Amino acid sequence: SSRWSLAGMTALVTGGTRGIGYAVVEELVELGAVVHTCSRNEAELNQRLQEWSAKGYAVAGSVCDASSHTQRQQLLEKVSSIFNGKLNILINNVGTNIKKPTMEYTAEEYSMIMSTNLESSYHICQLAHPLLKASTLASIVFISSVAGLIHMSSGSIYGATKGAMNQLAKNLACEWANDNIRVNSVAPWYIKTSLVEHVLSDKHFLDKVASRTPLKRPGEANEVSSMVAFLCLPAASYITGQTIAVDGGFSVNGFP
Ligand code: NDP
Repeated sequence: SSRWSLAGMTALVTGGTRGIGYAVVEELVELGAVVHTCSRNEAELNQRLQEWSAKGYAVAGSVCDASSHTQRQQLLEKVSSIFNGKLNILINNVGTNIKKPTMEYTAEEYSMIMSTNLESSYHICQLAHPLLKASTLASIVFISSVAGLIHMSSGSIYGATKGAMNQLAKNLACEWANDNIRVNSVAPWYIKTSLVEHVLSDKHFLDKVASRTPLKRPGEANEVSSMVAFLCLPAASYITGQTIAVDGGFSVNGFP
C-alpha cells in the first residue's frame, strides 16, 4: 500500500557515491522516489550515475563539496529547479573524521570536521526548508553516529558534531512540525564502508568491535539505509525528533 511506498516523492541524499549514502540512494529509488545526490569526485559520481541509469534507477547528481557555503547554495538551486521548488526527503549523510587525542587537534582540523559534519547539514536544512515545506509531506534524516550518544575513541570533535546533529533533529522536529516536516537522526555503529575500511582491516580492532557488539559483527550499509528509508515512509508519520541507533546492540551493552 502507499504507506510503504515513496512513489511520487523527491529526495536529496548528500554523499551518495559510496558507503551509507550510496545504499540510501538505492533504497529510496527502490521504494519509488526520484533522487538527487552529490559528491566531490566528478569521475566517481559520473560512474555511479551511469550504473544507475543502466539499472533504470531515477538518480541525478551534481558535484558539490558540502563543506562549502557557496557550493551548498548552488546544489539547492539545482535541486529546486529540477524538482520544481519541492522536496519531500532530505538525507544529510556527508560526514568525515580525523581520529586523534583532543590535545593534538589544530584549529584547521576543528573547522574542517565541524563544517563538513555539522555546518553543512545545518545550512542545507535552512536552504531546503522552503522546498520541504512546499512539498507538504516532508522528512529530514541526519546520519549521525553512536559517537554522538556515548564516548568512542573516534575523537572528541566528531563526537561533538554527531551529538549536535542529534539535538538539531529534536529542535527542528518541534520547530518545523507545523510545516509537516518530520526530522529524525540515525546513529550507526561501525558500518563497512570506505570511511572506516582502514580501521576494520586491522584484525585485532575488528575482533574488539565484534566482542563489544551483541550481534558480534560490524554492520552493512544496507542495514542502515533500511532504517533511513523507513523514517521517510508515510508508515513513519508519527515518528519525529528521535535518534535511532543502528548498532547491533552496541550502545545498550553494559558491563560485564
Ligand atoms: P564514506 O566515506 O564511505 O562515503 C562518504 C560519501 O560522502 C562519499 O560518497 C563521498 O564522496 C561523500 N562526501 C564526503 N565528503 C563530502 C563532502 N565534503 N562533500 C560532498 N560529498 C562528500 O562514508 P560512510 O558512508 O561511512 O559515512 C556516511 C555517514 O555515516 C557519515 O556522516 C559518517 O560520519 C556516518 N557514519 C559512518 C559510520 C561507519 O562506520 N561507516 C558509523 C557511524 C556514522 P567524495 O569523497 O567523492 O566527496
